[in-house]
Amino acid sequence: MARNELIEKTLTDAMNYARTFLHTGKVATYIPELAKGYPDKLGACVITTDGEIYSAGDWHQEFTIQSISKTLTLIMALQTAGYDRVFSKVGVEPTGDAFNSLVRLETKNTHPLNPMINAGAIATADCCMNSKDPFGDFLALTRKLCRRNTIHLDEAVFQSEKKAGMRNRSMAYLMQGDNILEHDAEDVVDLYFWMCSLSVNVEDLANYALILANNGVDPRTGETLLEDWIVRIVKTLMVTCGMYDASGEFAMKVGIPAKSGVGGGIMGTVERKMGLAAFNPALDPKGNSVGAYRVLEYLSHYLGLHYFSGSSYTVS
Ligand code: GLU
Repeated sequence: MARNELIEKTLTDAMNYARTFLHTGKVATYIPELAKGYPDKLGACVITTDGEIYSAGDWHQEFTIQSISKTLTLIMALQTAGYDRVFSKVGVEPTGDAFNSLVRLETKNTHPLNPMINAGAIATADCCMNSKDPFGDFLALTRKLCRRNTIHLDEAVFQSEKKAGMRNRSMAYLMQGDNILEHDAEDVVDLYFWMCSLSVNVEDLANYALILANNGVDPRTGETLLEDWIVRIVKTLMVTCGMYDASGEFAMKVGIPAKSGVGGGIMGTVERKMGLAAFNPALDPKGNSVGAYRVLEYLSHYLGLHYFSGSSYTVS
């Protein structure tokens, strides 16, 4: 299969472009173990539906999946508890608030507004607890979609999350009090922290994104890994809520369904074309990776990946 020279060159240029912004970001410190990340690490990977892999920079570097796991938690919740049960506990509207905000649980309604914020992911993790082996099943799902059987837990980050997880515990207890959670708050947050602490690289995430881009079917094998109705829900929520409270800006400037995590990863999926992922631990004030954001922005602009490409938008 032929390598696409335009993708190769654009990826190299995207990395150079993104590097010029890295100094503007800061590594997450609220989970002490994340503070050890190097802000100048930058990696990216694009996998096209014809199976070609384009990797650049620190593509082999592992980092914790963090909030990108929320897409997998939603998938597993829909698979184990079904549509009605999941969406009786969590809504689908963007919040405009920070990912770890508690405020809407009191003022808007008791249900978290969507599965891509912490409160919503804790509610979907609760649905996953109905599986016989939630940890094992979640790991198996992640390994299958990322196409790597050696994906494992970063134990140090997991312990650090547990120690620093007061806000998440508060949300879980509020939701247990309101009968949104069906299991004990401590058990649910434990699963939630564990899900966030799996160690991945950009190639893993690009593989996963490729399956989403191809509506659940691995284009390389023809195997159906996910049902298309689940993929549709996940990608829709990635568009509206995947980039924290910068989801609107990202939709306008980049126009790729994406999910971001405070470990520095961003995963993006381009309909029927490619899965992509980028990594850089320096974050902007909203929690999105500065370098990864810029890589995706550049690729979108110069490869015409915006879902409404043809419209005029500029890389600022
Ligand atoms: N485990 C992190 C937390 O709950 C996830 C944050 C994120 O990536 O947005 O604080």
